[in-house]
Amino acid sequence: MQRYFILIHLIFCTIFCIAQPRVVAHRGFWRTEGSAENSIASLQKAAEIGCWGCEFDVWLTADGVPVVYHDATIEGIRIEDTTFASIMNHRLPNGEIIPTLQQYLQEARRHPNCRLIFEIKPHRNTKREGMISELSVELVNMLGLANRTDYISFSKNICKRIHELAPQAKVAYLNGDLSPKEIKEQGWTGIDYNVKVFEKQPNWAKEAKELGLEVNVWTVDGKEELYRFATMPNIDIITTNEPTILLKSNQHNP
Ligand code: MG
Repeated sequence: MQRYFILIHLIFCTIFCIAQPRVVAHRGFWRTEGSAENSIASLQKAAEIGCWGCEFDVWLTADGVPVVYHDATIEGIRIEDTTFASIMNHRLPNGEIIPTLQQYLQEARRHPNCRLIFEIKPHRNTKREGMISELSVELVNMLGLANRTDYISFSKNICKRIHELAPQAKVAYLNGDLSPKEIKEQGWTGIDYNVKVFEKQPNWAKEAKELGLEVNVWTVDGKEELYRFATMPNIDIITTNEPTILLKSNQHNP
């Protein structure tokens, strides 16, 4: 009898685990002591608390160094217009210096259970978007991270280029202006859209799943909203600044 109960428990456990959307820490896990957006610490902490993935943003400096940072500018200086040397000593709010992509990916190698959700920011022109795409794929491949790196971008051109350079890699589009059918036609693998897009287009998540695409929603932070999306059908991944809320609720499931 006891064995029977254990079996039932395991089946329920499996169903609940599968049903739970995967949790991605938006710009790493940064709303915690000693962390900051897109810092090395935010990657370490996202992995430590058990996030399925860690999202981060990448820019290319004028002299061709990819760096991990969210905004286009640092202290009023445009990253694309300046040399790496001029920003390399910039301190993040937690005291770290701005990580280069190489440093960030090297740290990622130490956290094999955390997937990398690699956002390439839209750059000034097609040429520079091509350069950052090529450098990114090259570095990811060189460091042996290709099998756990998914690319995302607001730029159609970047998604297209990444898909050409790394046809096996997952590529999801962020800008919300293409239907699931259009994404599928491009050969990309997912939609990674803002909450508002799913509210405006209530059928897109379902349509995307029917086409075999992955569905990621950002940025969901409030407790109620997190639970709402976590129990919504057709949502695979939730990108959040508050990953602990969903991770804690996962632990409370049978
Ligand atoms: Mg981002």
